[in-house]
Amino acid sequence: MSQDPNCIFCKIVAGQIPSKKIHEDEELLAFQDIRPTAPVHFLIIPKLHLASLAEAGPEHERLLGRMLTLAPRLAQQQGADNGFRTVINTGPDGGQEVYHLHVHVMGGPRPWKQG
Ligand code: 5GP
Ligand code: ZN
Repeated sequence: MSQDPNCIFCKIVAGQIPSKKIHEDEELLAFQDIRPTAPVHFLIIPKLHLASLAEAGPEHERLLGRMLTLAPRLAQQQGADNGFRTVINTGPDGGQEVYHLHVHVMGGPRPWKQG
C-alpha cells in the first residue's frame, strides 16, 4: 500500500492536514515537528506509506539513504550549524507514536526540552 487513508503523515503528504514544509521532492517530504523538543526539530518522511523501520526491506535502501543524506543539508538550512541529532523511533518499545516512518532531526543551541 503506497498510502494509508487513516495515517496522519499520509494526510500531510496529500495536503489534507497542513504542515510547515521545509523540503519536498518526488519521494520525500520534510516538515516542522508540531511539538518541537529542540530549537530546530523537523521530520523527514517518505511519501510512500511505510509503517516503521521494521517494515523496511532491501527495496527501501535507496530511499532510506536519501532520507539520511537529506538530514544534514536541511539541518544546516534550518540553522542547526553546530551539530544535530537524528532519531528513528520504532515500535511500542521504541516510543513510536506515528506509524509512518520518519526521521527526527533535532538541533540548535542547548539546553533542549526532554524528548
Ligand atoms: P514518534 O514518537 O512517532 O517518533 O514521533 C512522532 C512525532 O510526530 C512527534 O514528535 C509529534 O510531535 C509529531 N507529530 C504528530 N502529529 C503531528 C502533526 O499532525 N503534524 C506535525 N507537524 N507533527 C506531528
Ligand atoms: Zn502513512
